[in-house]
Amino acid sequence: MSSSACAYLDHTTASSQEGQNGTPQTGNEQAPSSESQAAEGQGTGSPESRGEKAVNDCIFCKIIAGQIPSTVVFEDEDVFAFRDNNPQAPQHVLVVPKRHIEKLNDLTANDAPVVGKLLVAACRFAREHGMDAQGYRIVLNNGEGAGQSVWHIHAHLLSGRPFRWPPG
Ligand code: 5GP
Ligand code: ZN
Repeated sequence: MSSSACAYLDHTTASSQEGQNGTPQTGNEQAPSSESQAAEGQGTGSPESRGEKAVNDCIFCKIIAGQIPSTVVFEDEDVFAFRDNNPQAPQHVLVVPKRHIEKLNDLTANDAPVVGKLLVAACRFAREHGMDAQGYRIVLNNGEGAGQSVWHIHAHLLSGRPFRWPPG
């Protein structure tokens, strides 16, 4: 896969933002919240300024960059989360690292902090949106055989319906 950099845009130009009550908001209308540190003006600059690279043909890098619209539910320095456009449960959020990593199998010890932040962010979002009462599931697929279709690691946060075990 290509690893060449592409330009990042201000994501608020193409993405809608969502407040804590689940109501989509646009651009700078977003209320200050722990879910949106960058949108509160506490941002850390562009991914490029942090020495990170987007990947030209990666859908999620383009969503993070605002080149593809999405319903953003939170972001911070390292993590970006948005609604899945083909939800498999009443609540289906994708939580991704801003840094492009193709698959779980590529992870090294250096990635532990960002992967930890990703999981903590997903659980915080679940907690803040009352998902614990009914239960929620976090799924990370590695490889085509496990159902991975986008080659930028992501956690699926699913809630709002019963989940079977073992998973399909
Ligand atoms: P995977 O199959 O790789 O575990 O999950 C990829 C997920 O990304 C799928 O649930 C799919 O619906 C979602 N997805 C793919 N393209 C887009 C997109 O352009 N926008 C959004 N919001 N979700 C996407
Ligand atoms: Zn990517």
